[in-house]
Amino acid sequence: MKQSVLVVNCGSSSLKLALFDENENELASAKAERLNETDAFAGIDGDNLTIALPAGASHRQALQALVTALRERQLMTDAPASVGHRVVHGGETFREAVLVNNSVIKGINRCAGLAPLHNPVNIAGIEATGELFPDTPQVAVFDTAYHQTLAPRAYLYALPEAYYRDWSVRRYGFHGISHFFMANEAARRLGKTPATTSIISAHLGNGCSICAIKDGLSVDTSMGLTPLEGLVMGTRSGDVDPGLFEYLSTQGVSLKEVHKVLNHESGLLGISGQTNDMRTLCDLADHGHEPSALAIEIFCFRLAKYVGAMMASLSHLDALVFTGGIGENSSRVRKKTLSHLGLLGFNLDTDMNEHHGGYTDGRIDTADSRFPVLVIPTNEELVIAREARRLATSI
Ligand code: ADP
Repeated sequence: MKQSVLVVNCGSSSLKLALFDENENELASAKAERLNETDAFAGIDGDNLTIALPAGASHRQALQALVTALRERQLMTDAPASVGHRVVHGGETFREAVLVNNSVIKGINRCAGLAPLHNPVNIAGIEATGELFPDTPQVAVFDTAYHQTLAPRAYLYALPEAYYRDWSVRRYGFHGISHFFMANEAARRLGKTPATTSIISAHLGNGCSICAIKDGLSVDTSMGLTPLEGLVMGTRSGDVDPGLFEYLSTQGVSLKEVHKVLNHESGLLGISGQTNDMRTLCDLADHGHEPSALAIEIFCFRLAKYVGAMMASLSHLDALVFTGGIGENSSRVRKKTLSHLGLLGFNLDTDMNEHHGGYTDGRIDTADSRFPVLVIPTNEELVIAREARRLATSI
């Protein structure tokens, strides 16, 4: 237990914990949801007892309650040897994970304008952890950092350059922790080193993004200044014509309303009018609900277009990789997406696509496919734990 690593993931209204031992086994995981609401609740995974939280509980209160509960259940017997925090936005300041100190906290705070719902709660999580474990080194691992290797041609928008210079308007990209894990895990499964492996990584969860990875480094990605750009997502629209804002304002829709709709009422939910949940959508489509079938169709078509777009950054391709709740589990989405990409030479083995879970390397392409296609479960917590341990032991 002495060398355990605690991973803290503060979302805008949630907090997730994962505790790993020195052999990277997960000892426990726990989460709190609906924080700052009257009905906040928390629990330890695999344990039926809910943990009492005061109404409107903050991230700090939730962290204290979860750590107390882990201690009471003997799941955490000592202070962890290191703590790793997922931090959403590192701007251009943070190109890799860093040991937390006062200047790092100031740096995360300076990036808060780019992620106002996330960076402040990430800082709250770091400060609360410092109160609980004052002698434990803390490490910040950024969702944006992996994409700091993008070249200007990939990260600059075609806008007046003062927008970038004065207001930091550029494409940052997100899901970097997951895409980084894919780069390494795909290389391992293909019997190669990450530094010689080029893949296209499609992370498809509630949020969705795709990343072109050349010789282990991110060279292009679909999310931009914010996580709204790119693919169709659960409730986010992904790409729309920026002219939409002006047009909708003539229809009396305020900027605030458009922002809310594009983030929370669009994507799979908006098209289907029913749900943002891909599993439910597939059931509805199977029962003849046409808007749900259309939502899946648009989701896959946009994804296929982006696979093609990511090719522009690569000189060779070792694999297309699917991950995230949808990427790992939906054979239908993988099949439909690849059905648009026959011209590029992707060839799916339909049996392996259905039963990939039974195949250890995750390959779902046929022997004559021009490119391997892989299904790889993501493990962002493990990446954060590894970075925390690596940097903490370097002190
Ligand atoms: P988050 O981005 O919140 O971490 P996940 O990565 O867990 O989300 O992905 C959630 C999505 O995965 C949901 O749309 C869910 O319906 C989908 N999903 C999970 N299991 C399946 C399945 N068996 N078939 C289709 N979609 C699935």
